[in-house]
Amino acid sequence: MNAKSWKCPRCNLVFNDEAIANLHVRLTKHPLKKTEFTVS
Ligand SMILES: [Zn+2]
Repeated sequence: MNAKSWKCPRCNLVFNDEAIANLHVRLTKHPLKKTEFTVS
């Protein structure tokens, strides 16, 4: 199973929901690092 997360290095926060990650970008203009990983 694949999962995605978005990390904000500035806030040291991790978002598992793309909608929330996009909201954070809109509100803060922080660049996020997208990571994909496999959960077994
Ligand atoms: Zn941030």
